[in-house]
This record gives sequence, C-alpha cells and structure tokens, in this order.
Amino acid sequence: MEPKNRQSKDHAMVKLTRRVKDLALAYGASAVGIVTREMLEGGPPSADISYVLPTARSAVSFCVPLDKGLIDGWFSKKGLTAHFKDNIQKNTISSGISLELANYLNQKGFPSTPLTANTAYRSDTKGGYLDEKPPVSHRYLAVRSGVGFFGLSGNVLTPREGAAVILGSVVTEAELIPTEPLAKDENYCDDCRLCEASCASGFINGKERVSITLGGVDFSYTRKRHHSRCDYVCGGFAGLHKSGKWSTWSPARFPIPEEDEAFYPALLNAIGPYLKRPGQDIAVFNVIMPGDKVELTCGNCQLICHPDKDVRKARYKMLTQSGVVVQNADGTREAVTPEKAKAHLEKMDDDRRALYE
Ligand code: SF4
Ligand code: SF4
Repeated sequence: MEPKNRQSKDHAMVKLTRRVKDLALAYGASAVGIVTREMLEGGPPSADISYVLPTARSAVSFCVPLDKGLIDGWFSKKGLTAHFKDNIQKNTISSGISLELANYLNQKGFPSTPLTANTAYRSDTKGGYLDEKPPVSHRYLAVRSGVGFFGLSGNVLTPREGAAVILGSVVTEAELIPTEPLAKDENYCDDCRLCEASCASGFINGKERVSITLGGVDFSYTRKRHHSRCDYVCGGFAGLHKSGKWSTWSPARFPIPEEDEAFYPALLNAIGPYLKRPGQDIAVFNVIMPGDKVELTCGNCQLICHPDKDVRKARYKMLTQSGVVVQNADGTREAVTPEKAKAHLEKMDDDRRALYE
C-alpha cells in the first residue's frame, strides 16, 4: 500500500507543479521556478517564507519581462513615459500572477499567500516601512530556484532578458517539485561594471562583495551602500551624475552626497522642491514617499544589464551621450547638452530655479 500511496502523492505533486508553472507562463511570466522552505534555510531574514505563511512548504518564483523595445528610448532620453508605463504595468502583471496563483492553490486546498511585486515593506523592523525590508525577497527565491542568478549589481539576471524583468512570488503550503539554481557557467555577469558606472547615486559598491547561503548553496554580489541613495536618485529628487555630463530622467540637480549619512538629510531637503515641480501624469504609488507617490527616473543598473555585452555597452553610450534632462515651464522634460542646461537654469527666476538646484 505504502509505495502505491507514495506513487499517487508523487503523481499529484507532478500535476500540481505543472499546473502552477503553466498558469504563471500563460499569464505573462517568462520563467518559473520552485523553492522549498529547506532550500532557503540559513538565508537572510527576508528569505524566510514562513514570515508571510507560518505553515509554508514552498514558494513559486517567476519573472515578467519588461518591454525591451522601450529601453533604448529610455537611455537615449527620447521617451520617458513609454518605459515608465511599461514598468508599472509589468509590476501589476507580476502582482496579478501572484494573486491568481494563490487563488488557484487556495481553491485546490493549499493555503497560499500572494506577494506584491514591489513597494511592500515589513512594519515590524526598527524604522518600520522606512527600512524598506520586504516581507520576502523575490530575489532570494529567484536565484535559489533558477529563475536567474545574481549579477555583481545584486540584481537578478536572467539568461534571456538579463536584469530587465519584474520578479514575483507566491508562498504556499503545497508541496511542489523544486527546481535547482542555474549552473555557474550560465551566469553571464563578466564584471563589466556598467551597472556601477550607470548609477549616479553610488548605491552599488563594486569593490566589496557579500555572500549569502541559501539551503547550502552560496551566492555572492556586491555590497550595496545605504538604500536612501537609490531612493534619492531613482525617485527623481536629484539625478545629475558627478561628471556633470549626463543625468537620469530627473530634471533636479541637487548635490548627490559622498557619504551614506548625508543622503537622508539631502532627501528631506529635496522634498519641498520635488512636490512643487510640475509632476508627471504617471507615478508609482508608495506610502513612504512624499504625497504617497514617486517618479521613476532611473533603474539604470537593471536596464543596462543585457546578456550581450555589446548591448550593455551601447546602452551605456546612449545614457552618457544623451545629455542632461531639464524641465520646461509646461512640465515637459527634454535632454539637452550640459551647457544648454546651465543656460536654461540661469534664465529662471530665483524661485523657479530653487526647484531644481
Ligand atoms: S552590468 Fe555587468 S557587472 Fe553589472 S551585473 Fe550586469 S554583467 Fe554584471
Ligand atoms: S536604480 Fe538607479 S540609483 Fe538605484 S541603484 Fe540602480 S542605477 Fe543606482
């Protein structure tokens, strides 16, 4: 009896695992993996899937690709809205897949918890939401289940779409058949450092590495500096690279400090002007940001990282040769040369100029 029972349990697991993967792929994911609770043991706190579901046995990890056709326009500063909208929509699709999967598994009799793709934070850390600690890190689940691998940047790189993906996950009581990490030789990260070079905030510290262990498997990536750096620059509070030759999509050029400790005060100083500048039609809603909304003006470290090094180099060239962004009186943004940007700011009256520098 025993082997027969086991056989039918195995068969049910195979069937359920297949359905879970089929659902995620049919609804927009480009890769799906499975991790068990044991495969995440020994990892950082946000690798603990029991945080969101104490009875969790497994998690499904997946990624939704960003529209690669919109990335060149973003880097060459020809169009802000198209990629921004795509980013929001892919985050929404990722969260939606998670909800659909959790609903499917719940109705199959396996309690499951969907996870929001982004902007969800733990409330029980010292600084609460401001610490920006996710309930569960999609990244750990993705690398351990073979959806992708860590690049130097700490982003998850996928063999086909590079880092230009939005990750998602569902935590479940269901026992599913796990998938293994990708082989080391499949990791295309060649230490090109273009992620670091394209980050105006200095968040990526390419010199030191950190290592983590998830269920006996080691992973490593660069040490990151304080997350306020990315909030400040990616959120659009400032965006002029220290060379003065290129910027993100932010028209603001408040100083980007050297030291971590200086970022939070810099961010507080930049909030007033940020709220007074003409806004965009779209925004990411985020409770920790002023007015509960934030712009997307960077993402460079993620978008630059394509499996083909020539594509990475071409994107870096577009970013650094397309000038700096200024904002016109009607709120539109355009990229101009650094000299033109200077003249543009000099023409403003003091009150208006104070919104930008
Ligand atoms: S940009 Fe280069 S160094 Fe950075 S993660 Fe990608 S391949 Fe690695
Ligand atoms: S999103 Fe922009 S500011 Fe944030 S780490 Fe990446 S490159 Fe740096």
